[in-house]
Amino acid sequence: MSKPRSAPSTTPNLRVSASGVHGLGAYATRPLPAGAFLGLYEGRRYTPAQIAAKTWDDSLTYLFKLSNDETIDGAKGGNATRHLNHSCDPNCEAVEDYDEAGRMVLRFQTLVEVDAGDELFIDYSLTADDGSSPADYLCYCGTDACRGTMLAAADADVDEAAG
Ligand SMILES: [Zn+2]
Repeated sequence: MSKPRSAPSTTPNLRVSASGVHGLGAYATRPLPAGAFLGLYEGRRYTPAQIAAKTWDDSLTYLFKLSNDETIDGAKGGNATRHLNHSCDPNCEAVEDYDEAGRMVLRFQTLVEVDAGDELFIDYSLTADDGSSPADYLCYCGTDACRGTMLAAADADVDEAAG
């Protein structure tokens, strides 16, 4: 069963609206327990070679790189999960998984219990392969845990490489 590419899946737990942090945001439509499924990150998929061959606009914010080196561009055919903003102290997370066809997918789910109307965030933990500096990805999440940038913490990179 494969859905037509042109039809992003519905995300009944999410409502997209203006965000207090940045642009549009995603909000919970109902109270959700920790671990609640929000949706899969959808969009056009690119291989590393395709990514390298393409000229990307600096303002693009919907690219999600998977650990298998595929990149999903949520700007093309993505659903409401692409509107989750970054927070250094997030209430949601993105988890890699596999669909029935064995293809890697990215599940968005809650990390903690959330109330109806709460804005939902994940920690983007961006990696800047292009040598960008943290100042290119300033964070305004305003939480106590704020790193000041949406880039992954330096020690997180080390952990990831080791694990
Ligand atoms: Zn922050």
